[in-house]
Amino acid sequence: MRPVIGRLPVVLLLAALVAGACAHALAGPPHEPGRFRAPDLVELVGLDPTIKLDVRYATSHNFVGRPVYSEARAFLQRPAAEALVRAHRALREKGYGLIVFDGYRPWSVTKLFWDLTPRAKRAFVADPRKGSKHNRGCAVDLSLYDLATGREVEMPSAYDEMTPRAYPDYAGGTAEQRARRDALRAAMEREGFTVEPNEWWHFNYRDWRQYPILDLPFSSVH
Ligand SMILES: [Zn+2]
Repeated sequence: MRPVIGRLPVVLLLAALVAGACAHALAGPPHEPGRFRAPDLVELVGLDPTIKLDVRYATSHNFVGRPVYSEARAFLQRPAAEALVRAHRALREKGYGLIVFDGYRPWSVTKLFWDLTPRAKRAFVADPRKGSKHNRGCAVDLSLYDLATGREVEMPSAYDEMTPRAYPDYAGGTAEQRARRDALRAAMEREGFTVEPNEWWHFNYRDWRQYPILDLPFSSVH
């Protein structure tokens, strides 16, 4: 298990938030008034090593076409991470495990995605002026793998596919693809996650409002 953000990164975070408030609106994370829970990011595979990772943003196999993370790791705030582990274990009886594409995402990466996405496709990426639930460590992108083969299953669309096939209520594809998508959603909803309206793979944890927008690199999360 890889705990938490120590004292020094929190100081850096506060400095970053102050800097963001003073600078141009998009020069740093948006300043949000109010009190937030102390970040407690945990590494998912540290809680359960049978969760698989396919961190596409650490590879060129993503919509940007080049790596935007230097490390293939996935973190969530502790209550969300523990809920995800429960969903993973509940799926075992259906013959599936969770394969995670992305969890906590530093704000500067959200800004990069926005800048690189054509205007017509921006419904699929978060506006950096508002930040993303990924930036709060409370959103996760994931799919299922087959326990028997260890391989990622087919869903009605590919991950990060910016088409109507990505909608969680898309009625096309095969019956098997839709059944797997719906099994993933049901397992996640039982543990306090909600699916994004246009991305079957993206789930938000119910407590996301309680956590601040972060811009810590993965190397600072220890
Ligand atoms: Zn997402």
